[in-house]
Amino acid sequence: MEKLKEFKALGLSEKTLRPLLEKGFEKPSPIQALTIPVLLNGDKDVIGQAQTGTGKTAAFSLPILEKIEKSTGSIQAIVLAPTRELAVQVAEEMNSLSHGRNLRIAPVYGGQSIEFQIKQLRRGIDVVVGTPGRVIDLMNRKILKLDKIDYFILDEADEMLNMGFLEDVEMILQNTSKDKRMLFFSATMPKEILRVAKKHMGEHEVLAVKKTELTTNLTDQIYFEVKEKDKFEALCRIMDLELDFYGIVFCRTKNDVNVLVGKLQDRGYDSEGLHGDISQNHREITLKRFKEKKINVLIATDVAARGIDVNDLSHVINYAIPQDPESYVHRIGRTGRAGKEGTAITFITPSEYRKILQIQRIVKTEIRKEKVPGVKEVIQ
Ligand code: ADP
Ligand code: MG
Repeated sequence: MEKLKEFKALGLSEKTLRPLLEKGFEKPSPIQALTIPVLLNGDKDVIGQAQTGTGKTAAFSLPILEKIEKSTGSIQAIVLAPTRELAVQVAEEMNSLSHGRNLRIAPVYGGQSIEFQIKQLRRGIDVVVGTPGRVIDLMNRKILKLDKIDYFILDEADEMLNMGFLEDVEMILQNTSKDKRMLFFSATMPKEILRVAKKHMGEHEVLAVKKTELTTNLTDQIYFEVKEKDKFEALCRIMDLELDFYGIVFCRTKNDVNVLVGKLQDRGYDSEGLHGDISQNHREITLKRFKEKKINVLIATDVAARGIDVNDLSHVINYAIPQDPESYVHRIGRTGRAGKEGTAITFITPSEYRKILQIQRIVKTEIRKEKVPGVKEVIQ
Protein backbone atom coordinates (compact mmCIF):
# COMPACT_ATOMS: atom_id res chain seq x y z
CA MET A 1 0.00 0.00 0.00
CA GLU A 2 3.02 2.26 0.41
CA LYS A 3 2.97 2.63 -3.34
CA LEU A 4 -0.53 4.09 -3.19
CA LYS A 5 0.12 6.70 -0.52
CA GLU A 6 -1.23 9.55 -2.63
CA PHE A 7 -4.52 7.74 -3.13
CA LYS A 8 -4.58 6.87 0.55
CA ALA A 9 -4.05 10.50 1.48
CA LEU A 10 -7.29 11.35 -0.30
CA GLY A 11 -9.14 9.28 2.29
CA LEU A 12 -9.57 5.93 0.59
CA SER A 13 -9.29 2.82 2.71
CA GLU A 14 -7.71 -0.58 2.17
CA LYS A 15 -10.74 -2.16 0.47
CA THR A 16 -10.79 0.50 -2.23
CA LEU A 17 -7.03 0.75 -2.58
CA ARG A 18 -6.40 -2.94 -3.16
CA PRO A 19 -7.93 -3.15 -6.66
CA LEU A 20 -5.88 -0.10 -7.67
CA LEU A 21 -2.72 -2.14 -7.24
CA GLU A 22 -4.08 -4.73 -9.67
CA LYS A 23 -5.05 -2.04 -12.14
CA GLY A 24 -1.61 -0.49 -11.92
CA PHE A 25 -2.87 2.96 -10.94
CA GLU A 26 -0.06 4.60 -9.02
CA LYS A 27 -1.22 8.09 -8.36
CA PRO A 28 -4.42 10.03 -8.69
CA SER A 29 -5.00 12.12 -11.79
CA PRO A 30 -5.72 15.83 -11.14
CA ILE A 31 -9.51 15.46 -11.39
CA GLN A 32 -9.34 12.49 -9.01
CA ALA A 33 -7.22 14.41 -6.52
CA LEU A 34 -9.69 17.27 -6.70
CA THR A 35 -12.98 15.40 -6.42
CA ILE A 36 -12.33 12.31 -4.29
CA PRO A 37 -11.82 14.13 -0.96
CA VAL A 38 -14.89 16.30 -1.55
CA LEU A 39 -17.00 13.26 -2.35
CA LEU A 40 -15.76 11.35 0.67
CA ASN A 41 -16.70 14.20 2.98
CA GLY A 42 -19.79 16.30 3.39
CA ASP A 43 -22.83 15.96 1.21
CA LYS A 44 -22.66 18.70 -1.41
CA ASP A 45 -23.55 17.86 -4.97
CA VAL A 46 -20.60 18.08 -7.33
CA ILE A 47 -19.90 18.99 -10.94
CA GLY A 48 -16.51 17.67 -12.06
CA GLN A 49 -14.89 18.86 -15.25
CA ALA A 50 -11.67 17.69 -16.87
CA GLN A 51 -10.69 16.90 -20.41
CA THR A 52 -11.23 13.53 -22.03
CA GLY A 53 -8.97 10.72 -20.93
CA THR A 54 -8.11 12.13 -17.51
CA GLY A 55 -9.78 9.47 -15.37
CA LYS A 56 -13.20 10.89 -14.63
CA THR A 57 -14.71 7.42 -14.27
CA ALA A 58 -12.51 6.54 -11.31
CA ALA A 59 -12.99 10.06 -9.94
CA PHE A 60 -16.62 9.30 -9.18
CA SER A 61 -16.35 5.53 -8.84
CA LEU A 62 -13.71 5.34 -6.13
CA PRO A 63 -15.53 7.47 -3.54
CA ILE A 64 -18.81 5.70 -4.27
CA LEU A 65 -17.19 2.30 -3.92
CA GLU A 66 -15.61 3.50 -0.70
CA LYS A 67 -18.99 4.56 0.68
CA ILE A 68 -20.88 1.46 -0.37
CA GLU A 69 -20.30 -1.06 2.38
CA LYS A 70 -22.05 -4.11 1.06
CA SER A 71 -24.99 -5.31 -1.01
CA THR A 72 -28.30 -4.12 0.41
CA GLY A 73 -30.62 -5.75 -2.08
CA SER A 74 -31.61 -2.42 -3.58
CA ILE A 75 -29.88 -0.11 -6.02
CA GLN A 76 -27.54 2.26 -4.23
CA ALA A 77 -26.21 4.25 -7.16
CA ILE A 78 -27.09 4.89 -10.76
CA VAL A 79 -24.74 6.17 -13.45
CA LEU A 80 -26.28 7.46 -16.67
CA ALA A 81 -24.11 7.35 -19.79
CA PRO A 82 -24.96 8.62 -23.27
CA THR A 83 -24.13 5.52 -25.32
CA ARG A 84 -24.27 1.75 -24.95
CA GLU A 85 -20.54 1.43 -25.38
CA LEU A 86 -19.90 3.93 -22.61
CA ALA A 87 -22.35 2.24 -20.26
CA VAL A 88 -20.56 -1.06 -20.79
CA GLN A 89 -17.18 0.56 -20.37
CA VAL A 90 -18.04 2.41 -17.16
CA ALA A 91 -19.55 -0.76 -15.67
CA GLU A 92 -16.38 -2.66 -16.57
CA GLU A 93 -14.20 -0.02 -14.98
CA MET A 94 -16.32 0.00 -11.81
CA ASN A 95 -16.22 -3.77 -11.67
CA SER A 96 -12.46 -3.83 -11.89
CA LEU A 97 -12.22 -1.05 -9.30
CA SER A 98 -14.25 -3.16 -6.89
CA HIS A 99 -12.61 -6.44 -7.74
CA GLY A 100 -12.63 -8.92 -4.87
CA ARG A 101 -15.62 -7.31 -3.18
CA ASN A 102 -19.06 -8.75 -3.40
CA LEU A 103 -20.72 -5.87 -5.18
CA ARG A 104 -23.00 -6.17 -8.16
CA ILE A 105 -22.46 -3.58 -10.83
CA ALA A 106 -24.26 -4.03 -14.12
CA PRO A 107 -24.85 -2.11 -17.32
CA VAL A 108 -28.38 -1.83 -18.74
CA TYR A 109 -28.74 -0.63 -22.30
CA GLY A 110 -30.78 -1.08 -25.42
CA GLY A 111 -29.61 -3.74 -27.81
CA GLN A 112 -29.07 -6.31 -25.08
CA SER A 113 -31.87 -8.68 -24.13
CA ILE A 114 -34.17 -6.95 -21.66
CA GLU A 115 -35.12 -10.32 -20.14
CA PHE A 116 -31.50 -10.88 -19.17
CA GLN A 117 -31.32 -7.45 -17.58
CA ILE A 118 -34.60 -8.01 -15.74
CA LYS A 119 -33.29 -11.26 -14.33
CA GLN A 120 -30.12 -9.53 -13.16
CA LEU A 121 -32.07 -6.72 -11.53
CA ARG A 122 -34.38 -9.15 -9.74
CA ARG A 123 -31.36 -10.84 -8.21
CA GLY A 124 -30.26 -7.49 -6.80
CA ILE A 125 -27.87 -4.95 -8.22
CA ASP A 126 -25.91 -2.38 -6.21
CA VAL A 127 -24.87 -0.05 -8.99
CA VAL A 128 -26.66 0.32 -12.31
CA VAL A 129 -24.91 1.94 -15.26
CA GLY A 130 -27.42 2.67 -17.96
CA THR A 131 -28.41 4.55 -21.04
CA PRO A 132 -31.48 6.75 -20.48
CA GLY A 133 -33.83 4.90 -22.85
CA ARG A 134 -33.37 1.50 -21.29
CA VAL A 135 -33.43 2.88 -17.76
CA ILE A 136 -36.81 4.49 -18.42
CA ASP A 137 -38.10 1.30 -20.00
CA LEU A 138 -37.09 -0.72 -16.94
CA MET A 139 -38.54 1.90 -14.62
CA ASN A 140 -41.85 1.81 -16.44
CA ARG A 141 -41.94 -1.94 -16.03
CA LYS A 142 -41.40 -1.38 -12.29
CA ILE A 143 -38.28 -3.52 -12.42
CA LEU A 144 -35.81 -0.74 -11.84
CA LYS A 145 -36.49 1.11 -8.58
CA LEU A 146 -34.46 4.16 -7.77
CA ASP A 147 -36.24 5.23 -4.61
CA LYS A 148 -33.40 4.16 -2.35
CA ILE A 149 -30.40 5.43 -4.26
CA ASP A 150 -27.72 7.41 -2.48
CA TYR A 151 -25.94 8.56 -5.65
CA PHE A 152 -27.08 9.79 -9.05
CA ILE A 153 -24.26 10.28 -11.55
CA LEU A 154 -24.49 11.89 -14.95
CA ASP A 155 -21.39 10.85 -16.85
CA GLU A 156 -20.28 12.70 -19.99
CA ALA A 157 -22.93 15.28 -19.11
CA ASP A 158 -22.08 17.48 -22.09
CA GLU A 159 -22.57 14.61 -24.54
CA MET A 160 -25.76 13.69 -22.78
CA LEU A 161 -27.22 17.14 -23.39
CA ASN A 162 -25.85 17.30 -26.95
CA MET A 163 -27.61 14.08 -27.72
CA GLY A 164 -30.91 15.45 -26.49
CA PHE A 165 -31.25 13.36 -23.34
CA LEU A 166 -32.25 16.22 -21.04
CA GLU A 167 -35.93 15.30 -20.83
CA ASP A 168 -35.13 11.65 -20.24
CA VAL A 169 -32.70 12.55 -17.49
CA GLU A 170 -35.27 14.77 -15.82
CA MET A 171 -37.86 12.05 -16.02
CA ILE A 172 -35.50 9.57 -14.37
CA LEU A 173 -34.65 12.12 -11.69
CA GLN A 174 -38.31 12.47 -10.75
CA ASN A 175 -38.34 8.85 -9.70
CA THR A 176 -35.30 8.92 -7.48
CA SER A 177 -35.06 9.34 -3.72
CA LYS A 178 -34.98 12.93 -2.51
CA ASP A 179 -31.88 12.73 -0.38
CA LYS A 180 -29.47 11.37 -2.96
CA ARG A 181 -26.21 13.02 -3.83
CA MET A 182 -25.88 14.19 -7.43
CA LEU A 183 -22.69 14.19 -9.44
CA PHE A 184 -22.22 15.48 -12.96
CA PHE A 185 -19.01 14.71 -14.83
CA SER A 186 -18.15 16.31 -18.11
CA ALA A 187 -15.27 17.15 -20.45
CA THR A 188 -16.59 20.63 -21.13
CA MET A 189 -18.83 22.96 -19.17
CA PRO A 190 -21.49 24.47 -21.39
CA LYS A 191 -23.92 26.87 -19.66
CA GLU A 192 -26.66 24.30 -20.13
CA ILE A 193 -25.03 22.00 -17.58
CA LEU A 194 -24.87 24.76 -15.01
CA ARG A 195 -28.50 25.55 -15.71
CA VAL A 196 -29.56 21.92 -15.21
CA ALA A 197 -27.45 21.78 -12.06
CA LYS A 198 -29.10 24.90 -10.70
CA LYS A 199 -32.51 23.44 -11.34
CA HIS A 200 -31.95 19.98 -9.89
CA MET A 201 -28.99 20.04 -7.56
CA GLY A 202 -28.95 21.19 -3.98
CA GLU A 203 -25.97 23.10 -2.71
CA HIS A 204 -23.26 22.23 -5.17
CA GLU A 205 -19.65 22.77 -6.01
CA VAL A 206 -17.94 22.98 -9.40
CA LEU A 207 -14.55 21.29 -9.43
CA ALA A 208 -12.68 21.85 -12.67
CA VAL A 209 -9.22 20.98 -13.88
CA LYS A 210 -8.43 23.92 -16.08
CA LYS A 211 -6.42 23.54 -19.19
CA THR A 212 -5.85 26.19 -21.81
CA GLU A 213 -5.31 23.73 -24.62
CA LEU A 214 -8.22 21.53 -25.51
CA THR A 215 -6.06 18.71 -26.74
CA THR A 216 -3.41 16.89 -24.79
CA ASN A 217 0.16 17.83 -25.59
CA LEU A 218 1.10 14.16 -25.48
CA THR A 219 -0.44 13.87 -28.92
CA ASP A 220 1.71 14.87 -31.85
CA GLN A 221 -0.64 16.48 -34.36
CA ILE A 222 0.18 16.50 -38.04
CA TYR A 223 -1.61 16.73 -41.35
CA PHE A 224 -0.91 15.45 -44.85
CA GLU A 225 -2.13 17.04 -48.00
CA VAL A 226 -3.29 14.16 -50.13
CA LYS A 227 -5.65 13.80 -53.06
CA GLU A 228 -8.80 11.80 -52.44
CA LYS A 229 -7.64 8.99 -54.75
CA ASP A 230 -4.28 8.71 -52.98
CA LYS A 231 -5.63 8.44 -49.44
CA PHE A 232 -5.74 4.69 -49.37
CA GLU A 233 -2.08 4.29 -50.36
CA ALA A 234 -1.08 6.94 -47.85
CA LEU A 235 -2.89 5.08 -45.09
CA CYS A 236 -1.19 1.81 -46.02
CA ARG A 237 2.22 3.50 -45.91
CA ILE A 238 1.60 4.92 -42.47
CA MET A 239 0.57 1.52 -41.18
CA ASP A 240 3.51 -0.22 -42.85
CA LEU A 241 6.06 2.21 -41.48
CA GLU A 242 4.90 1.97 -37.87
CA LEU A 243 5.86 -1.42 -36.53
CA ASP A 244 3.45 -1.27 -33.63
CA PHE A 245 0.60 0.45 -35.39
CA TYR A 246 -2.52 0.37 -33.22
CA GLY A 247 -5.08 2.92 -34.18
CA ILE A 248 -8.50 4.19 -35.16
CA VAL A 249 -9.19 5.57 -38.63
CA PHE A 250 -12.15 7.93 -38.80
CA CYS A 251 -14.33 8.13 -41.88
CA ARG A 252 -17.17 10.48 -42.64
CA THR A 253 -19.96 8.02 -43.42
CA LYS A 254 -20.95 4.45 -42.66
CA ASN A 255 -20.48 3.61 -46.31
CA ASP A 256 -16.97 5.07 -46.31
CA VAL A 257 -16.22 2.79 -43.35
CA ASN A 258 -17.46 -0.30 -45.18
CA VAL A 259 -15.54 0.53 -48.34
CA LEU A 260 -12.31 1.16 -46.48
CA VAL A 261 -12.59 -2.00 -44.37
CA GLY A 262 -13.09 -4.01 -47.56
CA LYS A 263 -10.04 -2.52 -49.24
CA LEU A 264 -7.86 -3.03 -46.18
CA GLN A 265 -8.95 -6.61 -45.73
CA ASP A 266 -8.19 -7.27 -49.42
CA ARG A 267 -4.68 -6.01 -48.78
CA GLY A 268 -4.32 -8.32 -45.81
CA TYR A 269 -4.64 -5.82 -42.96
CA ASP A 270 -6.50 -6.96 -39.86
CA SER A 271 -9.15 -4.31 -39.77
CA GLU A 272 -12.79 -4.08 -38.79
CA GLY A 273 -15.44 -1.41 -38.91
CA LEU A 274 -17.56 0.25 -36.25
CA HIS A 275 -20.68 2.24 -37.09
CA GLY A 276 -24.31 2.59 -36.14
CA ASP A 277 -25.72 0.11 -38.67
CA ILE A 278 -23.63 -2.74 -37.34
CA SER A 279 -25.51 -4.79 -34.76
CA GLN A 280 -24.87 -4.09 -31.11
CA ASN A 281 -23.59 -7.59 -30.58
CA HIS A 282 -21.16 -7.35 -33.46
CA ARG A 283 -19.95 -3.95 -32.30
CA GLU A 284 -19.17 -5.33 -28.88
CA ILE A 285 -17.25 -8.24 -30.35
CA THR A 286 -15.25 -5.91 -32.58
CA LEU A 287 -14.47 -3.58 -29.71
CA LYS A 288 -13.36 -6.47 -27.54
CA ARG A 289 -11.10 -7.83 -30.28
CA PHE A 290 -9.63 -4.38 -30.77
CA LYS A 291 -9.01 -3.91 -27.05
CA GLU A 292 -7.28 -7.27 -26.95
CA LYS A 293 -5.21 -6.17 -29.95
CA LYS A 294 -6.45 -9.06 -32.06
CA ILE A 295 -7.09 -6.43 -34.69
CA ASN A 296 -4.84 -3.40 -34.81
CA VAL A 297 -6.88 -1.01 -36.86
CA LEU A 298 -10.45 0.03 -36.30
CA ILE A 299 -12.33 1.99 -38.94
CA ALA A 300 -15.11 4.07 -37.43
CA THR A 301 -17.58 6.90 -37.70
CA ASP A 302 -17.62 9.64 -35.06
CA VAL A 303 -20.73 8.48 -33.27
CA ALA A 304 -19.60 4.87 -32.97
CA ALA A 305 -16.23 5.81 -31.56
CA ARG A 306 -17.40 8.42 -29.11
CA GLY A 307 -15.91 8.01 -25.68
CA ILE A 308 -14.37 4.64 -26.41
CA ASP A 309 -11.50 4.17 -24.07
CA VAL A 310 -8.78 2.05 -25.53
CA ASN A 311 -5.36 2.47 -24.08
CA ASP A 312 -2.04 2.95 -25.83
CA LEU A 313 -3.33 3.90 -29.27
CA SER A 314 -0.33 4.76 -31.41
CA HIS A 315 -2.43 6.60 -34.00
CA VAL A 316 -5.67 8.36 -34.66
CA ILE A 317 -6.14 9.02 -38.35
CA ASN A 318 -8.71 11.37 -39.81
CA TYR A 319 -9.21 9.78 -43.20
CA ALA A 320 -11.59 12.64 -43.86
CA ILE A 321 -11.24 15.95 -42.11
CA PRO A 322 -13.77 16.23 -39.27
CA GLN A 323 -16.82 18.38 -39.95
CA ASP A 324 -16.11 20.68 -37.04
CA PRO A 325 -13.34 21.41 -34.53
CA GLU A 326 -15.29 19.82 -31.70
CA SER A 327 -15.33 16.53 -33.51
CA TYR A 328 -11.58 16.87 -34.10
CA VAL A 329 -11.01 17.26 -30.37
CA HIS A 330 -13.13 14.21 -29.64
CA ARG A 331 -11.40 12.07 -32.21
CA ILE A 332 -7.87 12.84 -31.24
CA GLY A 333 -8.82 12.53 -27.57
CA ARG A 334 -8.59 8.78 -28.21
CA THR A 335 -4.82 8.99 -28.17
CA GLY A 336 -2.37 10.60 -25.78
CA ARG A 337 -4.41 9.20 -22.88
CA ALA A 338 -3.24 8.36 -19.40
CA GLY A 339 0.28 9.59 -20.01
CA LYS A 340 0.95 7.67 -23.23
CA GLU A 341 2.21 9.40 -26.36
CA GLY A 342 0.39 9.18 -29.67
CA THR A 343 0.16 10.65 -33.14
CA ALA A 344 -2.91 12.20 -34.71
CA ILE A 345 -2.82 12.46 -38.50
CA THR A 346 -5.38 14.32 -40.57
CA PHE A 347 -5.68 13.85 -44.31
CA ILE A 348 -6.75 16.97 -46.13
CA THR A 349 -7.38 17.43 -49.80
CA PRO A 350 -5.78 20.58 -51.27
CA SER A 351 -9.06 22.49 -51.03
CA GLU A 352 -9.46 21.81 -47.31
CA TYR A 353 -6.52 23.88 -46.19
CA ARG A 354 -8.73 26.54 -44.60
CA LYS A 355 -10.52 23.97 -42.50
CA ILE A 356 -7.34 22.71 -40.89
CA LEU A 357 -6.34 26.28 -40.07
CA GLN A 358 -9.69 26.84 -38.45
CA ILE A 359 -9.31 23.71 -36.34
CA GLN A 360 -5.81 24.78 -35.39
CA ARG A 361 -7.06 28.15 -34.20
CA ILE A 362 -9.65 26.56 -32.00
CA VAL A 363 -7.54 23.81 -30.46
CA LYS A 364 -4.76 26.36 -29.93
CA THR A 365 -2.10 23.83 -30.82
CA GLU A 366 0.11 23.62 -33.83
CA ILE A 367 -0.89 21.00 -36.37
CA ARG A 368 2.27 20.45 -38.40
CA LYS A 369 2.24 19.83 -42.11
CA GLU A 370 4.25 16.80 -43.15
CA LYS A 371 4.88 14.96 -46.37
CA VAL A 372 3.24 11.60 -46.91
CA PRO A 373 5.92 9.08 -46.03
CA GLY A 374 7.56 7.62 -49.13
CA VAL A 375 7.27 4.00 -50.13
CA LYS A 376 10.37 2.11 -49.14
CA GLU A 377 12.21 1.23 -52.31
CA VAL A 378 12.76 -2.39 -52.91
CA ILE A 379 15.96 -3.17 -54.74
CA GLN A 380 15.85 -6.47 -56.50
P1 ADP B 1 -12.40 10.21 -18.97
O1 ADP B 1 -13.74 9.72 -18.49
O2 ADP B 1 -11.91 11.41 -18.21
O3 ADP B 1 -12.37 10.44 -20.46
P2 ADP B 1 -11.48 7.56 -18.24
O4 ADP B 1 -12.12 7.49 -16.91
O5 ADP B 1 -12.13 6.82 -19.35
O6 ADP B 1 -11.31 9.10 -18.69
O7 ADP B 1 -9.95 7.13 -18.06
C1 ADP B 1 -9.04 7.05 -19.12
C2 ADP B 1 -8.05 5.91 -18.87
O8 ADP B 1 -7.15 6.25 -17.82
C3 ADP B 1 -8.70 4.60 -18.45
O9 ADP B 1 -8.09 3.54 -19.14
C4 ADP B 1 -8.42 4.49 -16.97
O10 ADP B 1 -8.35 3.14 -16.54
C5 ADP B 1 -7.07 5.19 -16.87
N1 ADP B 1 -6.85 5.79 -15.54
C6 ADP B 1 -7.74 6.48 -14.80
N2 ADP B 1 -7.19 6.92 -13.65
C7 ADP B 1 -5.89 6.52 -13.67
C8 ADP B 1 -4.81 6.65 -12.75
N3 ADP B 1 -4.94 7.32 -11.62
N4 ADP B 1 -3.63 6.09 -13.10
C9 ADP B 1 -3.49 5.42 -14.28
N5 ADP B 1 -4.48 5.25 -15.19
C10 ADP B 1 -5.68 5.79 -14.89
MG1 MG C 1 -15.55 9.36 -19.21
